[in-house]
Amino acid sequence: PGEEVAAQAASLFKDSGSPTIFDKIIAKEIPSKIVYEDDKVLAFRDINPQAPTHILIIPKHRDGLTQLSKAEERHKEILGELLYASTVVAKKEKLDDGYRIVINDGPQGCQSVYHLHIHLVGGRQMKWPPG
Ligand code: C5P
Repeated sequence: PGEEVAAQAASLFKDSGSPTIFDKIIAKEIPSKIVYEDDKVLAFRDINPQAPTHILIIPKHRDGLTQLSKAEERHKEILGELLYASTVVAKKEKLDDGYRIVINDGPQGCQSVYHLHIHLVGGRQMKWPPG
């Protein structure tokens, strides 16, 4: 247990970002429409949907992943979990004709919440290039 506490403290120390609204969603302190959950990943409907289906897939433990560009070697597993969970959610939502996965990174990527999240959008024809 001592080692576990030390590891947690170390990971908090590395997580230099401020708390975000997603912490409250994870803690269920504010309501959200959860569509998928496991021990590592939470998926819930975006409050401001940009398509008929718009779901955010996030790590429950941010562990420094305020944004994709902060990813380190230790994040490889959770990055895979998030992408795989996105496919599970897409199936659940019956997005059988396709969908789009988006990760906004930093100011030029239009990121607004600094807790890594994958956008899963679908249910209509997407356009390319994105804006
Ligand atoms: O990629 P970006 O950081 O801009 O995405 C944040 C997303 O979080 C937005 O699509 C926004 O609508 C969503 N959001 C939410 N619930 C909140 C706050 C933000 O679904 N309470």
